[in-house]
Amino acid sequence: MKLFDVYPLFDIEPVSAKGSYIVDKKGDTYLDLYGGHAVISVGHSHPYYVEMLTNQLNKIGFYSNSVKIPLQEELAEKLGRQSGYPDYELFLCNSGAEANENAIKLASFHNGRKQIVAFSGSFHGRTSAAVAATDDPSINAPVNHSPNFVFAPFNDEQAAKELITNNTCAVIIEGMQGVGGVQVPTVSFLRLLRELCDKTGALLILDEVQSGYGRSGKFFAHQYSGIKPDLITIAKGMGNGFPVGGVLIQPNIKARHSMLGTTFGGNYLACAAGIAVLDIIENENLVQNAAETGKYLMDKVSSLEGVKEVRGQGLMVGIELEYPCAETRKQLLFNHKIFTGSSSNKNTLRILSPLNIKTSELDVFIEAFVYTLEKSLAK
Ligand code: PLP
Repeated sequence: MKLFDVYPLFDIEPVSAKGSYIVDKKGDTYLDLYGGHAVISVGHSHPYYVEMLTNQLNKIGFYSNSVKIPLQEELAEKLGRQSGYPDYELFLCNSGAEANENAIKLASFHNGRKQIVAFSGSFHGRTSAAVAATDDPSINAPVNHSPNFVFAPFNDEQAAKELITNNTCAVIIEGMQGVGGVQVPTVSFLRLLRELCDKTGALLILDEVQSGYGRSGKFFAHQYSGIKPDLITIAKGMGNGFPVGGVLIQPNIKARHSMLGTTFGGNYLACAAGIAVLDIIENENLVQNAAETGKYLMDKVSSLEGVKEVRGQGLMVGIELEYPCAETRKQLLFNHKIFTGSSSNKNTLRILSPLNIKTSELDVFIEAFVYTLEKSLAK
C-alpha cells in the first residue's frame, strides 16, 4: 500500500533529536527553529519527559474514559495553576482541530445558537466546524460549507461591532494567528470582542493551539490583553509531540454526561506527556525564557536590510521579507541546516523554536540569516 500523497516533503529523514537539534539518516545535524509546527515546546527528547513517558508505559499506557484516571486531575490542577485559570474545567482530547470542534460544540450547547464569527487569515484545523471557521477555501470541501460561519476582517473593530449580534453563538480567534503569518490581535480588539460577547451572550473562544503553552512569553498570548475567554483551546506544545489537546472551560458552562467524549483523549500516556511538559516549563522557567529569547531574536532581525516587518510575541515570530521567503528558507535548510517555517503569507517565515532555546543557538540562525539576506539582495 502506498501513502496518500498529501504532504510536500523535504528530502530529509530525521533519526534522532535532542534539545533544539535533529540528526538525519546521513548524520547531518539541523537546528530546529520550527519544532514541527510549534509542537516541540520543551525540546526534543528532554530526559525528564522521556523518563515520565517510559515509566508510565511500563505501568499502564491506555484505558478508556470509563475508569478513573487520576493523572487527568493532576494535569488539570497543574495546568489551571500555571496558566492562571484554576477555576476553569478541562476537557481532554487529541489535537487542535478536535479541541476547536469541541469548543464550538460546547458554545452551541450552552446558548443554543449556531452562528460562529471567525476572522480573515484564521486557521483552526481541518475537521468540520474547525475547518468551516478557517479562512482557506482550498481546504474546505463542499460538505464543510455552512451559512453558520461568517468572517470579519482581522483587527477591524467596526466590522466586529456590526457582525457580532444577539444571534452569534461564539466568536473564535487565535491568540496570535500562526498559519496566517504571525498576526497579533491588538489589545483593544480582544477587549472589544470580550465586551461584544458579554453584551450579546455570545461565547469567546481563544484558539491558543499554537500561541499557548508559554510560546508567546506569557502562558497564553491573550493574557497580554487582560481578558478572560469563555473557552480556550490547546494542543501542539501541550504534549511536546505526544498527541494531546484540550479545552479550558469557564465554570458557568455546565457539563452533562456524554455531552462530549473521545476514546483516546486523556489516556495515561497523554497525561504523562502533558504533566512532564508542565513540570519542565515551570522548573526551567520556560515562559520567561520564551519572552527573553524571543525579544532578543526580534531585536536582532528587525532592522536588517531585506526585512520588511517582524511580528510576534515571545518565540512565535514572523519575519516578513520584502520578497517571497521560499528561497531563503531553502537556503537556511540545505546550506545552513536550519529548519524554519512558512505561512500563508508567502513573504513571511515563521520561527517557532523550542521554548528552551539559548541565545547562542539563535545567534547561529541570525548569522546564517544575515548571510542569506545579503546574498539575495546582491543578486
Ligand atoms: N488551531 C491553530 C491556531 C493551529 O495553528 C492549528 C494547527 O496548525 C490547529 C488549530 C489545528 O491543530 P491540529 O493540527 O492539531 O488539528
